[in-house]
Amino acid sequence: MRHVDIEIAIVGAGPAGTAAATMLARAGREVAVFDRASFPRDKCCGDGLTALALRELETLGLSPTTVESWQPVDDVVVRGPSGRETRYPLPEGPGLHAAVACRQDLDNSLVELARAAGADVRESMPLRDATASNDRVELTVGEDERVIARHVIAADGMWSPTRKALGLAVEGYRGEWHAFRQYYRNVSPRASRELVVWFEKDLLPGYAWSFPLANGRANIGFGIQRGGAHAVGDMKELWLDLLDRPHIRDVLGPDAEAEDRYLAWPIPARVGRVPLVGPSTMFVGDAAAVTDPMTGEGIGQALLTGRLAAEAILHAADPEKSYEREVRRELVADDRMARTLIPLLGHPLITRAAIRLTGATGWTRRNFARWMFEDYPRAMIATPRRWHRGMFTGSGAFAKD
Ligand SMILES: Cc1cc2nc3c(=O)[nH]c(=O)nc-3n(C[C@H](O)[C@H](O)[C@H](O)COP(=O)(O)OP(=O)(O)OC[C@H]3O[C@@H](n4cnc5c(N)ncnc54)[C@H](O)[C@@H]3O)c2cc1C
Repeated sequence: MRHVDIEIAIVGAGPAGTAAATMLARAGREVAVFDRASFPRDKCCGDGLTALALRELETLGLSPTTVESWQPVDDVVVRGPSGRETRYPLPEGPGLHAAVACRQDLDNSLVELARAAGADVRESMPLRDATASNDRVELTVGEDERVIARHVIAADGMWSPTRKALGLAVEGYRGEWHAFRQYYRNVSPRASRELVVWFEKDLLPGYAWSFPLANGRANIGFGIQRGGAHAVGDMKELWLDLLDRPHIRDVLGPDAEAEDRYLAWPIPARVGRVPLVGPSTMFVGDAAAVTDPMTGEGIGQALLTGRLAAEAILHAADPEKSYEREVRRELVADDRMARTLIPLLGHPLITRAAIRLTGATGWTRRNFARWMFEDYPRAMIATPRRWHRGMFTGSGAFAKD
């Protein structure tokens, strides 16, 4: 058995793990990242990048030009349960407020960024076991390698094997959402340009989407709430049914062709209600269940929590305690606000009224689009400490590029 002693071990090289690795390595700390996959690897996702994700990517120093399928988004089209379509333009002017990028490309660029910063990213190295005490964590990875680390950042996704190995998994927990996606090529000019969200009556508070990608491709999918009207086991039939609905067929266009296999995966949205830390361990991203409970978006939150974990190691005397406090401060109010809105969005009449209200003027349309794409926090209005000058008018991410 090979033995490795390292200051910081990160399990998982998705957005959460690579954000933490990049920041720590750049600050001169000794970091190894272990992922069971070899990159580039696919990840079941809608590939939508909100303003939160874009700002975090900019802070990390990622250049969009390194991500092949990167597609900026200017307009969001929402079709309500009554069939009425509303166009929500994102703000014009400098910077980006939304974009779409295949996870295969995005995550590969993030791995390259972490390596360039000095992190040792080790692929095809699954975590097999972990034991933790207050001053170190012992991991077994790959064939038979023992890693002893002062700190572990568990960025290993929804099913977090680290959480399981440390005995911190929530019994029977399978995520709040379950979502399904498939790539299409030769989509209509509309689908290759516009980001469309369908609030289908039978999916509420879930929704279906068509997210545009470069070269005439699109990421098409839908998400449902676990325990809602549709069972997770029926998603394949529901998918065929959705693809048969005329308004969805119209957007995809007559030449659209499905690419490769379809995938479905759970989405955990339980901020602060699963342990965020263990002995010498911090959970980040989906491993910490920090996605937005209203939309299931989690890339921005993964990057954010990865950064917060790195900052806690770099600056706090007790990193785990500081990390837990910061995550609660950043995300709990937004999670509560989103969870308050979800039952309302389950009613077609309320969703219809909300779309009417938010579509009333240019100002409401622009600001609803910004709110939906996390340009400001969900509970901004209820948390005056986060108010700042220009919060409704600020430029987007990558404004200087
Ligand atoms: C269908 C669907 C659509 C979605 N759409 C969007 C969207 O449009 N926008 C958005 O913002 N969010 C979306 N999400 C959510 C988003 O995909 C996640 O929140 C995000 O990927 C979380 O990033 P992460 O780094 O925490 O985890 P992940 O991206 O899951 O990365 C975890 C990493 O851990 C590795 N790993 C797992 N087990 C082990 C092990 N034993 N040993 C070592 N490594 C391991 C994996 O290989 C992986 O690389 C969607 C999710 C789904 C399912």
